[in-house]
Amino acid sequence: MFQISYIPAFKDNYIWVLQRGARAFVVDPGDAAPVLSHFAAHGLELAGILVTHHHADHQGGVAALLERWPCQVFAPAKESITGRTQPLSGGEKIDVLGVQVEVLDVAGHTCGHLAYLAPQALFCGDTLFGAGCGRLFEGSPAQMYAALTRIALLPEATKIYCAHEYTQMNLPFAQRVEPDNPAIGERISRVAARRQAGLPTVPLALPEEKATNPFLRCSEPAVIAAARAQGALSDDAVEVFAALRAWRNGFG
Ligand code: ZN
Ligand code: FE
Repeated sequence: MFQISYIPAFKDNYIWVLQRGARAFVVDPGDAAPVLSHFAAHGLELAGILVTHHHADHQGGVAALLERWPCQVFAPAKESITGRTQPLSGGEKIDVLGVQVEVLDVAGHTCGHLAYLAPQALFCGDTLFGAGCGRLFEGSPAQMYAALTRIALLPEATKIYCAHEYTQMNLPFAQRVEPDNPAIGERISRVAARRQAGLPTVPLALPEEKATNPFLRCSEPAVIAAARAQGALSDDAVEVFAALRAWRNGFG
């Protein structure tokens, strides 16, 4: 297996680095400059790029990285991606530094959004976040809910490497949805301590997300009741998810 580390970018993005010896892949290099300096500092050579979706904060650095290291660029076939050499739509198995990685279709945030599943590590871009999920810019609630359900069904030990540090910002909404869920209050304290210490809250642990992330809890009676009070027309999980997502959009 490769080693996983991160390069911070912009205000709250993580560019994940998958490293084996002196060769490494990066996931979602929205900016080339921090990647170039990290690779120079650690004597690394770029062996490939994984892109989850087309937004600039995920692919903006690809062109400059290709100038330095011509390499394979794995990216959604359905989206406009600079420098893409390997178009993917989900279901493929790809080789990343000798490790087999499965490509998942997790459309919702965008129409071709992909996630990359390595042994016990999922790189999911802007699909699942700590205590939250990506906005529905292009896909439907049904698509996004299916993507989140797919992630929730992965083995419990799977660590989730999302592309933004949003956990602390998301937790107040989770608590508003489920004020009586003690796991949310406990997580708020733990996350505050980590952020205070300058530590990331990502990767996410799947059991903790299932216990505290409202978007993975659309079949819980308390979450259904909260969504119904916000206009969900039935107890159907997709309907509940859609009401939560719309509520979240207007919540601080
Ligand atoms: Zn995005
Ligand atoms: Fe993003």
